[in-house]
Amino acid sequence: MSAGAFAGADAVTDSRASPASLAPATSAGGQPLIRLRGITRTYGEGQAMVQALRGVDLDIRRGEFVAIMGPSGSGKSTCMNVLGCLDSPTRGEYFFDGVPVHGMSRDQRALLRRSQLGFVFQGFNLLPRTTALENVELPLLYRGEGAARRHALAREALAAVGLAGREKHTPAELSGGQQQRVAIARALVTSPAVLLADEPTGNLDSQRGREIMELLTGLNDERGITILMVTHEADMAAHAHRIVRFVDGLIASDEPNTRGAPVAAAHAASREA
Ligand code: ADP
Repeated sequence: MSAGAFAGADAVTDSRASPASLAPATSAGGQPLIRLRGITRTYGEGQAMVQALRGVDLDIRRGEFVAIMGPSGSGKSTCMNVLGCLDSPTRGEYFFDGVPVHGMSRDQRALLRRSQLGFVFQGFNLLPRTTALENVELPLLYRGEGAARRHALAREALAAVGLAGREKHTPAELSGGQQQRVAIARALVTSPAVLLADEPTGNLDSQRGREIMELLTGLNDERGITILMVTHEADMAAHAHRIVRFVDGLIASDEPNTRGAPVAAAHAASREA
């Protein structure tokens, strides 16, 4: 990554107006929350070998909202899987808040995943025939929280995504946009530092997609939650502070994005349509 791109991202992050009381503590010494150095990921062997990542360097600061773009097969999902501790790199270093993830055991990585990372997927991945409240409680159940606290935190998370009053609805009784809100509440209920979202608007129409982006932008602005989002859609990426583009397993560009102007233009266009 070029020093210029990083300085630009800093400037955008520093100008954010987020209430200090809601924002998580900043990393000691201003170090990035996430640091990848020389990350490679190879699948298969010999002639069948695929180099999905070929040496990725990436720094993400607390409170950033980063869109990850690039053509299909460029390594975006592989990189998200490494960041989400769902996969280990073949080589390279991954530091989370200064702690070397590459030196962690499988159990330590699972603990980091459960305590610091929230996941949102294109297909929502909710349990069918299970209420919104129970879906959102699930990560707390894995964490061993008691029933009263689980209910209270899950209700709070559903209210935060605009679904107060829908606690008893099953996914089949909710629209696509509402199902994605439940999935976002489930990701938020453990108060993670980072939300990893893989094409969160990919299954939604453009209006519902914009509403989800407004929700994510609000969570980033008001709670200071760091968001990394893979998207193919330029008008969704326009909500981010910074756009990182992958090509052939490498970061081809990493640039700050001025929020507001492109988003306002996209909204104006949709009103005219
Ligand atoms: P993107 O998310 O940008 O579409 P991916 O990270 O999914 O890209 O894939 C990058 C490359 O790695 C592609 O060539 C893909 O076919 C390959 N790849 C991804 N996962 C696997 C796997 N489990 N086994 C073999 N090859 C894989």
